[in-house]
Amino acid sequence: MESDIMQIKVERVPQTRIQEVDFENIPFGKEFADHMFVADYENGVWGDFKIQPYGKMMFFPAMLGLHYGQTIFEGMKAYRNDSGEVMMFRPEDNFKRLNVSAGRMCMPTIPVELMMEALKELLKIDAAWVPESKESALYIRPFMFATDEFLGVKPSNKYRCVIFTGPVGPYYTTPLRVVVEENFTRAAKGGTGSAKAGGNYGGSLYPTRLAQEKGYHQILWTDSIEHKYIEESGTMNVMFQIGDTLVTPPTGDTILKGITRDSVLTLAADLGMKVEERRISIDEIAAAYQKGELKDAFGVGTAATIAPIEVIGYNGNDMLLPSMDARALSKKIAEELRAIRYGEVADKFGWMVSMN
Ligand SMILES: *Cc1c(COP(=O)(O)O)cnc(C)c1O
Repeated sequence: MESDIMQIKVERVPQTRIQEVDFENIPFGKEFADHMFVADYENGVWGDFKIQPYGKMMFFPAMLGLHYGQTIFEGMKAYRNDSGEVMMFRPEDNFKRLNVSAGRMCMPTIPVELMMEALKELLKIDAAWVPESKESALYIRPFMFATDEFLGVKPSNKYRCVIFTGPVGPYYTTPLRVVVEENFTRAAKGGTGSAKAGGNYGGSLYPTRLAQEKGYHQILWTDSIEHKYIEESGTMNVMFQIGDTLVTPPTGDTILKGITRDSVLTLAADLGMKVEERRISIDEIAAAYQKGELKDAFGVGTAATIAPIEVIGYNGNDMLLPSMDARALSKKIAEELRAIRYGEVADKFGWMVSMN
């Protein structure tokens, strides 16, 4: 396959696996499309661009990425609109963020135009895997990891970058029960919380398991110093409606700069809602709850989109949020975002990118 900026060698599957997938009932993250894009970094340059059948890779046990955590990833989605076209949602922003993560982890950046070109070629080949249903999308997982065979702790000289995709249905199917975390920390000041780096997620599994044993789905993370200010929920940014104002903590060292977060804030402001990006303490949430002013709480992220929170556990008590019917503001934003993604309304912010 020829392109302006790179040569991609294409090896196609002899036979598609698509008929094995039940598109009426897609589980999250278990189905993978036929092909993947692979690039390798060596001697300071990215090369060896390939699209090949999705499948096993071979590594040496001493591969650095398996030991010291030089692994970063992205997650984004492509949607099929009413005219059957495949459209990606803000993909350049994801590739820019991959490079931000790379910088923090001493990994090489990869040009956004190169990744866009690669992704478009991959989507053209696997276009049939983008679901028709408006509950579903094609999830896209770009990632990069260190491939040097070496035992010392140092930045690798070689890296691999891969993009694979897979059709997905809804991530959470019920409103979330979250619990305020007062001991464990997802990210600390000066740490790696603003990078989508593998280790951040490994470290969150244990506290999340403890929360799940107490009957919650996810953690509401607080700051690492006082465990007082809200940061994120699980692997999502988090927003609250207090009175008629939408409040969310500012991104920074410890809070990932979510693209869904940015989109929701943009839409909310555009719909004329009051929006505040500021620190918000759990005491403020609890006080608003007592006064009946806590109208809504929800997580925002690519996988889940807008995930309503129904319960916030804090100090041994559960705050019960208003029923779904009463959440006009977040429903309106969610609907607007959905309509943009599936091409039902004008894409006035220029978020949708065609694969052609
Ligand atoms: C990926 C991620 C998010 C959401 O980012 P999006 O760009 O909206 O998908 C939020 N928090 C964490 C920790 C994440 O890893």
